[in-house]
Amino acid sequence: MIRIGVCRIVAGLLIIGGAFLPESRLLSEEPTAVPAKRWKQHSMTQPKPPVVAGQGSAGPAAVPADAVVLFDGKDLSQWVSDSGEPAGWTVRDGFFEVTPEAGSIQTRESFGDVQMHIEWASPNPAAGSGQNRGNSGVFLMGRYEIQVLDTFQADTYADGYAGAVYGQAPPLFNATLSPGEWQTFDIVFRGPRFSADDKLLDAAHVTVIHNGVAVQNNEPILGPTSWLNFLAYQPHAHEAPIRLQDHGQPVRFRSIWVRRLPVRVAISEEQSQPPRAIARTAGELAAFAGAFQLGDGVGKPPVTMTVDGKGLIVRFPDRPVDMPIVPVSERVFEFVNTDATIEFEIDASGTPGNATMHIGGSTRSLKRLK
Ligand code: MG
Repeated sequence: MIRIGVCRIVAGLLIIGGAFLPESRLLSEEPTAVPAKRWKQHSMTQPKPPVVAGQGSAGPAAVPADAVVLFDGKDLSQWVSDSGEPAGWTVRDGFFEVTPEAGSIQTRESFGDVQMHIEWASPNPAAGSGQNRGNSGVFLMGRYEIQVLDTFQADTYADGYAGAVYGQAPPLFNATLSPGEWQTFDIVFRGPRFSADDKLLDAAHVTVIHNGVAVQNNEPILGPTSWLNFLAYQPHAHEAPIRLQDHGQPVRFRSIWVRRLPVRVAISEEQSQPPRAIARTAGELAAFAGAFQLGDGVGKPPVTMTVDGKGLIVRFPDRPVDMPIVPVSERVFEFVNTDATIEFEIDASGTPGNATMHIGGSTRSLKRLK
C-alpha cells in the first residue's frame, strides 16, 4: 500500500546516514512509500534472519572490462570526503579501512541504477556489540543504506543486520562471515523515479547477494534510510554519489566496482501506432481463412485463421491467445501485437493458397490444408 505521509518536524538537524541536513529540506508533505501497517522501526520482536552459510571471497574479484572501478587496491582517488576533500581513510595492502572520525566518504562520480560489487571485512578481533560492532554501510545514491555490520554470532534488531535495507527491511538470511573474513555484496539497485513535478512515481528497489546468498529480493525502499524513524522520499537527481559510512569502527573494503544499468528505451508515438490496415470485405477475408500445417508438423494440430472484423484471428496449437492480423497489402497481413507478418501466395485466379510467416528474422511455412 502506498500512502502520502507528512514528514516529521524535529528540532535542530536531522541525521541521514551520518550527514547533517537542514531540517527545512525535510518539511512539508512529500511522497513516501511507507506502508500503513508495518513493524516498528528497529523492532526487537521482528523475527531475526535465519543463519545460513555464506561463501566468502577467495581473493579480490575479477573486474568486468566495462565496469567503473572504484577501488583497485592502490588508492582512494575515486573517493572524496563529504565536503569534497581527499578521502581521509587508510589504504593498506590492497584494501582500505575506515579511519574512525574521519567522516564518511563518497564517490567522485555519480550513479543511479547500478550493479555493484563490494567486498568488506569486519574488525578482527570483534569489538563492541549490537550496532557498534563493525558498523559501516553502502549508501546507494548517498541515501539508501545497505547495512554493513558484524552480525556473525551477534545480535541486534532485525532491520539492522548486515545486508538490511537499514531500518526498513531485514535481510532474508544472516549470511555474515566471521570477523576478518572477506565478505561480498553484489547489489542490483534501481533508483526511485520522480515526475517532472516531483511526485514519487516508483520507489527505489534493491536486490542484494551477501556472500552468495540472496538477502534482498527486489525489495522496495521506503525512502532515505535513517536511524529511529522513516523518512519521506525527497525528489533528487537521477544520479548521485555512492557513500561509505564512517560509524566509528575500522571496517575494511576492497574490490569495488559498479556497472551503470541502462534505462529501457521507451517506444515512440510513431512506433506504437497500430498497423495501417487496408479495407477488405468479409468475403475477401474468408478466402484467406482456413487451416494450415505449420512447418513440417505433419499430423499435428493445425494453425487456423478465421475472419474477425477487419482482419483474421490466428490460433496456434498450444498457444492460448487468439492473435489478430490485419491486411496491409494485397498478399500480406500484419500481426497487431507481434512484430510478424503472414504473406500469402495467390494463384492466377486470385485465390490465396499457402503462406509464409515472417518472425524474428526467420520464416515458417504455412501449408494450406484441404
Ligand atoms: Mg551502517
